[in-house]
Amino acid sequence: MKAVFVAEGGGVVVKETSMPTVEDGEILVRMKACGIDGTDLEKAYGKPLTPPMLGHEVVGVVEESKSEEFEEGDHVFVHHHVSCGKCYFCLNGSLTMCPLFLKTTIIPCGLAEFFKVPRTNLERGSVLKLPSNLDWVEACFIEPVACVLRALKRAGFFAGRSVSIVGAGPTGSLFIQLLKMLGASSVIVAEISPLRMGYAKMLGADVVVNPIQEDFIQACREKTEGRGVDIGFLATPSVKPLQLVIESVRRGGVVCIFGAPEKGEKTAIDFSSLFINEKNIVTSYSTTEVETNMALDLLKTGRTFFKKTVTHVFGLADAEKAFETARDASKSLKVVISP
Ligand SMILES: [Zn+2]
Ligand SMILES: [Zn+2]
Repeated sequence: MKAVFVAEGGGVVVKETSMPTVEDGEILVRMKACGIDGTDLEKAYGKPLTPPMLGHEVVGVVEESKSEEFEEGDHVFVHHHVSCGKCYFCLNGSLTMCPLFLKTTIIPCGLAEFFKVPRTNLERGSVLKLPSNLDWVEACFIEPVACVLRALKRAGFFAGRSVSIVGAGPTGSLFIQLLKMLGASSVIVAEISPLRMGYAKMLGADVVVNPIQEDFIQACREKTEGRGVDIGFLATPSVKPLQLVIESVRRGGVVCIFGAPEKGEKTAIDFSSLFINEKNIVTSYSTTEVETNMALDLLKTGRTFFKKTVTHVFGLADAEKAFETARDASKSLKVVISP
């Protein structure tokens, strides 16, 4: 079978690899759709923070089951990481900080014709059954939508809040859709790719600004009687625009770092202004079964259309082209692999 791996010296390579053997309590899944996201690109081209496995926004059909809970033919979403539920971090609500979290994975990866789900993942509830009529491409948004739902919770978002988003890439676009769906009073977006600016408007952003050509901070103030927004999200793969997000937020507001910075990345911020204006910085890394279940429930309502952000679908054999396309912000938004 074929699977995609990080190539030596950068990029990705499609390789022939052996089919995983399914042990007691495990399942084998035939991949039907898998989204490429910013952390995959970071693994392929940058200095990644997370393990080198590619493809974690994955859905498919159970091909073989040695688990009592699943049968051949079940449509499933699989989350690659799980927490133990017993350690100090889990008991204190920091589920993604559980020592087990980054040790758990699927084998060999999500960007493979088939992959197996280890027993621990199954026992901890990482595999969700999907309705058989749920569209595969829409379903592969469960993981990224879950990540965004968790970030909204960590940032204290609720209806009526004004929000800025720096970066309208694949995830920034999900923020726009979810925030409009959940009743944000205004959503103000900074993005430099004309293609992605167009998508941001189409998805319902109230104001979309190219921060190189226009004053983004001014745009945020104009929408909020001069105050600045309640919450600002940094949804870029670099932490460089953090100061822009901080300045877009009102006094006493919240800044949420969402995009994964490269390993060791630093940036300069004005701490005196941060302090005297009592702005809070929170981060949001990954997601848990709490939010993947919420995301699935949301998709089951039939009222979502996250796949509107998909600009390209490639076959697994064309993964190299898919990654090159996903990397080019001028040409693509969400890129999905489907066998
Ligand atoms: Zn734990
Ligand atoms: Zn993701």
